[in-house]
Amino acid sequence: TAPTIPRLLIQAAQVHGTAEAARDGELRVTWSEFAARVAGRAAQYAHLGVGRGDRVAVLADNGLAFLEAYFAVAAVGAVSVPLNVRLVPRELAGVLEDAEPVLLLAQERYSRVAREAATLISGAIELQPLAQSPDATGVLEPGPAREGDLAHLYYTSGTTGRPKGVMLSHRNVCQHALAAACELSLAPTDTWAHIAPMFHLADAWASFAITLVGGRHVFLERFEAGAALDLMERERATITNLVPTMLGAMVARTDAAARDWSRLRSILSGGAPIAPEVVRAIVATFRTEYVQTYGMTETSPYLTLSKLGRAQAGLSAEERLALSARTGRPFLGIELQVVDADGARVPADDTSVGEIRVRGATVTAGYWRQPEATAQALRDGWLWTGDLARVDRHGFVEIVDRAKDMILTGGENVYSIEVENVLYEHPDVLEAAAFGRPDVQWGEAVWAAVVPREGRRLDAAALIAHCRGRLAGFKVPKGIDLLEALPRTGSGKIAKRLLRDGI
Ligand code: ATP
Ligand code: MG
Repeated sequence: TAPTIPRLLIQAAQVHGTAEAARDGELRVTWSEFAARVAGRAAQYAHLGVGRGDRVAVLADNGLAFLEAYFAVAAVGAVSVPLNVRLVPRELAGVLEDAEPVLLLAQERYSRVAREAATLISGAIELQPLAQSPDATGVLEPGPAREGDLAHLYYTSGTTGRPKGVMLSHRNVCQHALAAACELSLAPTDTWAHIAPMFHLADAWASFAITLVGGRHVFLERFEAGAALDLMERERATITNLVPTMLGAMVARTDAAARDWSRLRSILSGGAPIAPEVVRAIVATFRTEYVQTYGMTETSPYLTLSKLGRAQAGLSAEERLALSARTGRPFLGIELQVVDADGARVPADDTSVGEIRVRGATVTAGYWRQPEATAQALRDGWLWTGDLARVDRHGFVEIVDRAKDMILTGGENVYSIEVENVLYEHPDVLEAAAFGRPDVQWGEAVWAAVVPREGRRLDAAALIAHCRGRLAGFKVPKGIDLLEALPRTGSGKIAKRLLRDGI
């Protein structure tokens, strides 16, 4: 009876019964109803012939139906393959070809896209609508899943290349839920706002952790800054995890700070670097704890948290804020090292840079049907993250850049994040991305793309002058493009690859 995903819900239903489990628009369900609805969906999938180890793809916006599908697929011993709703049929077909699901559950809104994608693949696939409520209910059983079985196939964000399918087992997912519940003191009194897309692990992990503790789930279908603030205030959300660009857009709204945030206890951000200026604005707006999380799809996802403990109790408010804005210290159960090219740990002097490698019970067994990519990422018992970082004397790590985003200019290394942080210090900058542009003289030239705040005007020369006083000459952008918006991956990350390629 090792924990598996269905067992988390069976347990929660037993313990919390008639308490409210979730609210989605007008629909409210208790824990018993949630489990019964999941059983109804599982029976439907079993009836369609879905069994242990089969893949079931899900194409849907955030909502109770998505949450239920996660549990119902697991209850028949099958594997959820959450799909990025921003993909076009051709891209979706690529994922379907790779994962070979027997069933594709698509929300009404995506039924056409799903049908189109299905016609583009060689194999057979059953298409079913993901309705808001199941046709029937039942009694939830743990089903055939064992802890070592595959539970999820998540495709990475595709920030650096083609998305890869990451295999996560029930053990990976349940271990993460347990560790997150401890680390973040999740409790039945918590209300989690599913605002970041549920097809991405930045939010999806909470589907399991909040269920495990009997907290409450509320949902925003798709991100929009004002609607996200409305949901959090109306539903008295206590905690959520958003990507930095979402938080940036929310705190930029003039009506954000004046709201009732008395129930909110924690704002987490993750999935991409966040500028200290944005952290400052988050704390000023929500007047609550801010925790940075660093993670990867490959690690279920958390690797570090900047959550402070009693060791930091003596620090001043300013010092606490600065420490929270760092990437964080290792997540419970994760062994993390920052090592140089020879695999030796770099000194914890806050200056030496190395690559982060990790191991632990939440780390993937590998990429789906990609032995080379797996062998490349999992070496000597470690997962090599491709992320470069420094370590300070508290053991807090600070990501300086992805190895692939580091700019090599005239023999110098420039970390794109350092340049972005300086751009964010300009009061009229809403978003910034620094990247290397191929250049005959420099190899790569430091370049940036910037989005001004609403109603503000920026000019490139003035921004470059702003950088000059704050950065060494070789780090100052040679040019800055002013854009209305930055290109994004489906999970809301800035797609620097597209900026680099000039798309
Ligand atoms: P792909 O692997 O397909 O290129 P991706 O790496 O963006 O896409 P994810 O698994 O969603 O896919 O993201 C993990 C990566 O996101 C990490 O390796 C790291 O580079 C970045 N990241 C996540 N959290 C943080 C953070 N708090 N600070 C800086 N970078 C972060
Ligand atoms: Mg990655």
